[in-house]
Amino acid sequence: MRVAVVGAGPAGVYAADLLTKSEEVKSGALTLSIDLFDRYPAPFGLIRYGVAPDHPRIKGIIAALHKVLDRGDIRFFGNVNVGTDITLTELRARYDAVIFATGAIKDADLNIPGVELEGSWGAADFVSWYDGHPDVDRDWPLDAKEIAVIGNGNVALDVARILAKQADDLLTTEIPDNVYQALKRSPATDVHIFGRRGPAQIKFTPLELRELSQSPDVDIVLYPEDFEFDEESERQMQTNNQTKTMMGTLTNWIAAQPDDLAELTAKRRLHLHFLHNPVEILDSADAPGHVAAMRFERTELDGTGGVRGTGETVEYPVQAVYRAIGYFGSALPDLDFDHRRGVLPNDGGHVLDADGNPVPGVYATGWIKRGPVGLIGHTKGDALETIGMLLADREGLARPEHPEESAVIELLDGRGVEYTTWEGWHALDAHERELGTTATASGPVERERVKVVPRGDMVDISRAIRDLTGA
Ligand code: NAP
Repeated sequence: MRVAVVGAGPAGVYAADLLTKSEEVKSGALTLSIDLFDRYPAPFGLIRYGVAPDHPRIKGIIAALHKVLDRGDIRFFGNVNVGTDITLTELRARYDAVIFATGAIKDADLNIPGVELEGSWGAADFVSWYDGHPDVDRDWPLDAKEIAVIGNGNVALDVARILAKQADDLLTTEIPDNVYQALKRSPATDVHIFGRRGPAQIKFTPLELRELSQSPDVDIVLYPEDFEFDEESERQMQTNNQTKTMMGTLTNWIAAQPDDLAELTAKRRLHLHFLHNPVEILDSADAPGHVAAMRFERTELDGTGGVRGTGETVEYPVQAVYRAIGYFGSALPDLDFDHRRGVLPNDGGHVLDADGNPVPGVYATGWIKRGPVGLIGHTKGDALETIGMLLADREGLARPEHPEESAVIELLDGRGVEYTTWEGWHALDAHERELGTTATASGPVERERVKVVPRGDMVDISRAIRDLTGA
């Protein structure tokens, strides 16, 4: 059986790995060959381009994925855009099955007036910028002193932490030089995180929340009036250990806070506000077309874990707004799409057409299957479910017209697609690590790696090995 997996992030690599480890393959009942495609020249998806640079523990998952691909039984084709470089029909003609693991990389929309103003950013775009994504403009205007970050999930924490942190504390990480330089120049003094519900309804996780207090020269500011709990909040705190732990963290911070905030001494402040529903982003006469303030409606707990508006509005002067209200999946050519949820319509594994029938031989896993929720490890269970369905279907799958392994290479070469390979990733990886050990524009600090950002350079470095070996 030949399987194409589209998307070389954790979801795609887990699906490929679990397939190779299935009983059917281990027992010899099934001979399998898998090709892993990605639109970017480098593998690892959201771990390379979505995890914050100061989270080496999570980035460490790359080592496990690297090990899987190093075994040599899964081929990697990077810099290949499914839909333009190769169509779904062409994949179907070369593989028994296609698994989409394309994730969710766009920002969910926040539909409020003023969202289009200059200085109003999607968090996913900012994350892509600081993670050196090849398709994001390298210039990011970090000129705001006061900043609003909307959302109470871990992405909001990442964005706020990076904006508040001193740039030198990021210097040992893999941030590109231009990111370091821009953060170093940032005039930010106050970063405000706003949640629309209460402290007991946050979607942060305990480690990530606690980490906020570990940045040198950043004071955390909380507002005691946000800490009124209803019965449902009490219940959530008692029944959910994570919530309980995080309430402990937040209440310790409040207790340690001086009554007079003027006594805070750090260079930057990170404010956590709850019960603030975003209403409008405003510009001003002095700065027409540019973010100048943000208006919220105060909310109150409604006894069910939700909130209702109180009619009271408040405004904060801010010159930038980052919307961290969740990711959203993107439609794929030739497949139906659930535009409400941002996922491929599916029954837990099979991709479905507009009539709700399975598209033969086409499957989904990861965030494109179930939406952008859950930690990286959760995609493993997801992959297991999807490949279970694929293996159950295998006898009934139509054989591809061109099952030979060379067929896809002939097509890509014939089209002049400059695809990268696993050997190419080794070359790029070594190059980036080498850049990290040498003095960079940021100074002679040894760094984990310095990411190569321009797509053309990534491709050239990855493909140099091909040209040298003639492979
Ligand atoms: P998330 O956890 O779903 O959080 C989204 C937040 O946005 C929620 O607080 C939500 O509030 C809020 N929100 C949604 N619509 C809103 C609106 N219209 N107005 C105001 N607020 C709104 O999403 P995420 O932060 O993008 O994270 C995605 C996943 O990646 C999560 O599982 C997360 O844990 C994971 N992740 C983990 C890390 C890590 O370091 N471990 C880092 C990044 C991401 P409501 O709850 O009220 O809907």
